[in-house]
Amino acid sequence: MAKRAATEEGVEATLTFLGASGEVTGSSFLVETQARRFLVDCGMFQGQDSDEKNAAALAFDPRELDFVVLTHAHIDHSGLLPLLVRRGYRGPVHATPATCDLLGVMLPDSAHIQESNAAWQRERREAGPRAARPRARRATPTNGDEPLYTLADAQAALRQLHGVHYDVRHVAAPGIVFTFRDAGHILGSAIVELDLSDGPGARRIVFSGDLGQPGRPVLPDPTRVPRADALVVESTYGNRQHRSLESTLDEVAAVLTKTLPRGNVVVPAFAVGRTQEMLHVFAELAHAGRVPPLTVFVDSPLATAATGITARYAPLLDRQTRDLAAWQAAHPDRMRVLFTESPQDSMRINEVRSGAVIVSASGMCDAGRVRHHLRHNLPREECAVVFVGFQARGTLGRALVEGAREVRLFRESVPVRASVHTIGGLSAHADQAGLLGWLGGFESAPSRVFVVHGERETSVLFAELVRERLRWPSVEVPARGDRHRLAWR
Ligand SMILES: [Zn+2]
Repeated sequence: MAKRAATEEGVEATLTFLGASGEVTGSSFLVETQARRFLVDCGMFQGQDSDEKNAAALAFDPRELDFVVLTHAHIDHSGLLPLLVRRGYRGPVHATPATCDLLGVMLPDSAHIQESNAAWQRERREAGPRAARPRARRATPTNGDEPLYTLADAQAALRQLHGVHYDVRHVAAPGIVFTFRDAGHILGSAIVELDLSDGPGARRIVFSGDLGQPGRPVLPDPTRVPRADALVVESTYGNRQHRSLESTLDEVAAVLTKTLPRGNVVVPAFAVGRTQEMLHVFAELAHAGRVPPLTVFVDSPLATAATGITARYAPLLDRQTRDLAAWQAAHPDRMRVLFTESPQDSMRINEVRSGAVIVSASGMCDAGRVRHHLRHNLPREECAVVFVGFQARGTLGRALVEGAREVRLFRESVPVRASVHTIGGLSAHADQAGLLGWLGGFESAPSRVFVVHGERETSVLFAELVRERLRWPSVEVPARGDRHRLAWR
């Protein structure tokens, strides 16, 4: 039954929204043409109800998939790959070479979290039904005492990765070609242009992936795409404008200058992307003489590995970033960066009472070493916590951003006396103007537009804005599980 995406009647495809629809995590879209089935992204759900959603996420037979295309390495876009492989998927997973390298550290790290949470669950079950499960554990999914997947599954998934460079048309199957364009979101991040059927009558579906904020340091601006017949676009900050980079730097400088003489500054940051960008920001402030000499601890093995990978891909970074990194390496008296490896090194930071900038993962505080630093620094009013990334509903980070006076960490209640700052101008995601600007790069309205990767209210508001401002006729906000048939005559 050899069929192609294009028939005499035209091009058709069915798009199923498996996640990131009315929420920001769990990005995954199933595309079915008459002959092929494939996924764009295979992301993990995080935050509210994530255990249940992850367990139910792959409600199809993975063995029937022909291939997978990934937009970038963030776990909410890639984190269920090992589960897909555990359930029998053996085909290729296409991603940019930088994404492949980042996944080489991220997927094993994610598997480690799954395994240790499952072990913890097992312990709890053996301890009896009355032992309560700390609330924050919910944010990292497990499947009862069975891990969602194991290190072996992650390693198997890594063997299926296939690197495809930016701007190269890659034939994934007969009549199905995709091209990665730099999305400027994190190292290796891509917009996917998907062309169904070669030759006349070809139709293009574009997946924005996560889009970077234009004019932001470290990475180039998201690539403009001139044409799409259907578009799936993110909307994380579709309801907001970020502060300018200048006022953001002022804010960071003010927090550091005020806090460091007496306390520490904890920066929960995604290990990949955000950490490297914060190092850049600190170096910029140190270089300009706007902050006292800095001691920055990067306390996340994943962030350390990602920083090394970022350095290897220096040509993908902007010029200023490369110059600044060289300056910083030559001036440890102005800014010292210490990468901690062992848990013992990490614990030694707990003895530091003042003068330390501690950058640690996870970015939403639902796992990882940052939780220890929060436990030690949140109760001290002379300390500060600086959030620089999106905090999903149901995470500890969200509770802090929303002004919680007390949080639970390691089965204890911890008072929040440190000052908590949210610094929006550094977001890895485009703001409302950034998104509208990118959409403005299309020469004509795509016939179908789906707004995803935003909390529902945000996506609905942004969809309305796109209809009004750009006068695009068909802009929808799909819900999880929705199937849409795309047909062009
Ligand atoms: Zn992302």
